[in-house]
Amino acid sequence: MIKANDPNRKSWVGLPSDCDFSIQNIPFGIFKSNNDGPRAATAIGNKVLDLSALQEEGLLDGLGLPTGVFTKSTLNEFMGLGKAVCRSVRDRLSDLLEEGNAELRDNEALKARAFYDMREVEMLMPVNVPNYTDFYSSEQHAFNVGTMFRGPENALMPNWKHIPVGYHGRASSIVVSGTPFHRPKGQTKADDAEAPSFGPCRLLDFELEMAYITGKENPLGDPVSTNEADDYIFGFVILNDWSARDIQKWEYVPLGPFLAKNFASHVSPWVVTMDALEPFMVDGPEQDPEVLPYLKYDEATHFDVKLEVGIQPDGSDETTVSNSNFKHMYWNVRQQLAHHTVNGCNMQVGDMYGSGTISGPEESAYGSMLELSWRGTKPIPMKDGSERKFIQDGDTVIMRGHAEKNGVRVGFGEVKAKVLPAK
Ligand code: MN
Repeated sequence: MIKANDPNRKSWVGLPSDCDFSIQNIPFGIFKSNNDGPRAATAIGNKVLDLSALQEEGLLDGLGLPTGVFTKSTLNEFMGLGKAVCRSVRDRLSDLLEEGNAELRDNEALKARAFYDMREVEMLMPVNVPNYTDFYSSEQHAFNVGTMFRGPENALMPNWKHIPVGYHGRASSIVVSGTPFHRPKGQTKADDAEAPSFGPCRLLDFELEMAYITGKENPLGDPVSTNEADDYIFGFVILNDWSARDIQKWEYVPLGPFLAKNFASHVSPWVVTMDALEPFMVDGPEQDPEVLPYLKYDEATHFDVKLEVGIQPDGSDETTVSNSNFKHMYWNVRQQLAHHTVNGCNMQVGDMYGSGTISGPEESAYGSMLELSWRGTKPIPMKDGSERKFIQDGDTVIMRGHAEKNGVRVGFGEVKAKVLPAK
């Protein structure tokens, strides 16, 4: 077992109940406070712990960390040190926060300098994302969308159970939770209209996704196998992959999504390591038909992570509209990475890979408004008496996720974003 995952560990830092950031989590993020520049941190309870302060004080010596690695504006250099180094840092932080360890606990001056209240800091984009890929790996989601557009008999395309289908997305518009954005404008064409028109998107939707981030590069031309994939995957965030359904419908033939998807995608600020999620791995569904040899895998890499989506209308209470789970995937992350690289495509440090919308089998577990409202035919009631078919101006969409087992909780916090009117 990875030392930091020990369920018996307890921290001397007081943890609120149902806290996502337990001592078994130790995620990584980038924060900013007052007039100081960006620094790397971990989260424990409702505190942010400045890793650059710990390094300056010598508490992270002997772990192979270059000077200043935690005063960078992203985690890329740290992730690029490799999984062995990142794992030893996570283990060391767990030691320092463990109740019996006095090194940090009894150093009042350092504690005053290194700990921040989570509410008092600004969380920044944790990584620089050179490339963004979005998969389409939830069978229920693919089935739902296919059923709406082609009927249940032809819902899944003939390739779907043979290929982890994906497309190359836009990296520049991936932003951290809380970043304001405006309703996109674009071309749409109603079925009965003769010509397209231009204006604000009318069918703005969220997509409930998880994304993983790679911390290792493969040389151009060298595939990564399913059994090697773990070594490349640093960690995970929650991803709201916003979609403009009306723009998508008109533009996607024949090359797929473009402006309907690249206006903004929001991520949660804390990267939860793949190591921390290891205790929550579960088996995926049996894959039938049998996949090609390069997509076969030895160990399960599905994750039991509970996910929820809330919509908060302007000035009103939040209504939970979906309860899903990351385990509702057909293709796992090993298969996605093996497929992505099987032609020799090279991955880079910081690259992000969306799961695709995660829809569970029940209607209440669907991961987009397109499915929840079934193309707008079933409006979703809000607590304030209004209803939603898609997302309105002023709405804040909030996604949360956590894993829980044997009394240990490892969570992601939240990713939230408010939709401002079109510019
Ligand atoms: Mn997506």
